[in-house]
Amino acid sequence: MAYYLRVALPAVDPAPELNTIADLPFHFSGRHPKALLVGRVIKGEIRGQSSKDLFEAIRDLSLGFRALGVSPGDRVAIMSESRPEWLACDLAVLTAGAVTVPIYPTLTAQQAQYILTDSGARLAVVSTAEQLEKIQHVRHHLPALQAVVSFDPAHGVSPSAIELGDVEERGHARMVAEWGAAREYRDVSRAVTPDRLATIIYTSGTTGEPKGVMLTHRNLASNLVASQQALACTPDDVALSFLPLSHAFERTVTYVYLASGVTIVFAESMETIGRDITAVRPTIMTAVPRVYEKVQARILATGQSLPNPRRTIFAWGVNVGRARAHSELRGRAIGRLLRLQAKLAERLVFSKIREGVGGRIRYFVSGSAPLPADVAEFFYGVGMPIIEGYGLTETAPVLTVNPPDALRLGTVGKAIAGVELKIADDGEILARGPNVMSGYYNKPEATADALRDGWFHTGDVGTIDADGYLAITDRKKDLLVTSGGKKIAPQPIEAVIKRSPLVSEAVLLGDRRKFVAALIVPDFAALERRLKALGRPPASREELVARPDVVALYQEIVDGLNRELSQFERVKKIALLPSEFSIDSGELTPTLKVKRKVVEERYRNVIERLYGGTE
Ligand code: AMP
Repeated sequence: MAYYLRVALPAVDPAPELNTIADLPFHFSGRHPKALLVGRVIKGEIRGQSSKDLFEAIRDLSLGFRALGVSPGDRVAIMSESRPEWLACDLAVLTAGAVTVPIYPTLTAQQAQYILTDSGARLAVVSTAEQLEKIQHVRHHLPALQAVVSFDPAHGVSPSAIELGDVEERGHARMVAEWGAAREYRDVSRAVTPDRLATIIYTSGTTGEPKGVMLTHRNLASNLVASQQALACTPDDVALSFLPLSHAFERTVTYVYLASGVTIVFAESMETIGRDITAVRPTIMTAVPRVYEKVQARILATGQSLPNPRRTIFAWGVNVGRARAHSELRGRAIGRLLRLQAKLAERLVFSKIREGVGGRIRYFVSGSAPLPADVAEFFYGVGMPIIEGYGLTETAPVLTVNPPDALRLGTVGKAIAGVELKIADDGEILARGPNVMSGYYNKPEATADALRDGWFHTGDVGTIDADGYLAITDRKKDLLVTSGGKKIAPQPIEAVIKRSPLVSEAVLLGDRRKFVAALIVPDFAALERRLKALGRPPASREELVARPDVVALYQEIVDGLNRELSQFERVKKIALLPSEFSIDSGELTPTLKVKRKVVEERYRNVIERLYGGTE
């Protein structure tokens, strides 16, 4: 079967008609070629979902959902990896006037249950048998849930689950049999006003209880339009997408792609990115810092494995690129010699490196976590700049983007159109604009706390320079942000570790790191009693914390906890500390709270060893 991968939509400026996301599918309708296709990489080959018109697929699904009882305002959960059906279902839900509730497929059944209950979802749409099983496991706790729809064949897992193909067919049958079906679809989607709730996206609250961010159609549509201006993509672009659509960043970026006629290909998985880039040869890609770190490491390893003299030339070229980036990204002009060197390196090294990632990258986009300077410099140096942006789920999500032609290292760029930023007296970044959420679902107190005096309080700390570039310098809220952009509330996890009588203190690590680890201070009196009961010899504190049998006791505690957590929250490594924290030694506040920064500074060597060689 032949697949169209080029979405040759004429470039459309979605403003001013794109006031709601329900308007978006109408941009595809009637355009040529008719088959608008979103592909997916599977086992290194690009395959199409179907050769159907995307507009028709969305319309049929929407009518099918309505036939299943979905009415305007109803919440519909989508629990799936990023794939074309995710987008089609989301837009079908939105054009039915209903509300999409994304659930990360990596969440456990209990975590999904929380979201399904809190949002009162009426329908759940899942991708695979694995996701379906999770829902089946908790379904008896979900009285509001009336039906479950599965992308993949569901038989064998749940006889009551409906297959997505059947929903689409049901909608299509309505189009064929009912005279007014097309009109109904149009009328229902046109009745969606900008102020209507479009989605509830759950994010990690600092207390560990997820908060449902309520975003309206205006929030999403305004962010789509402003981000589109900032990113300037065209129908000639091909995007490789592999961040979860459940997260606001990839979702809004994907809306931008759809509005701009960009071809979207969904990667098979995070693990196969290298291979998928070669297959798709994207021109744009959005990712989190961790991905760029990985791609950089892969390129450098390839260079190091070259035979000499190519290896020496490669290393020289990379250094030239870095030197150029170092100056230009700080707004300084480069000297004549460096310019000449860069010209030569372009031919001998840079072009080859770019070829290794498909050879067509115009730029990369990074967000969700701070991008390390050396990574930004490496990619800029070899001619594939990374545009760093910043935002939060609560702001739908983009607040700032670095202008592609005036990148500034160490900053997350300038506010996008319509967004105002200011820095509060204590340094907190405040934001105002059409993209700011209407509040947290069912959480009036958290809403009042975040939306004060007309400004959204981001919980991040930063500075704005004279040219309007924002730099993020710190975080006020108690959240760890991994280099993969995952947000983890440390306190509830620490509290569970501390519940063990053998533990005196626990401090979670993971900010700007690849994974979560923990520093644990044993309750030495309890530990000594336990060792005695086990018939094991006593020892000094320093010796105890290094002894494998003692570490194993603590590993058991953490293993028990890990079973309750989703993959990215799991504590992958631990280190035991030989002395208790105290107010006198500065690790505790007078109210006995742990001062994270002091602990991290004091035990820097221990922490580096924990992460050593694994970053
Ligand atoms: P989320 O709601 O999951 O998108 O997380 C939003 C948070 O991610 C922000 O409050 C920041 O703490 C962090 N974040 C997002 N982008 C960046 C960035 N470019 N640099 C540093 N932190 C970021």
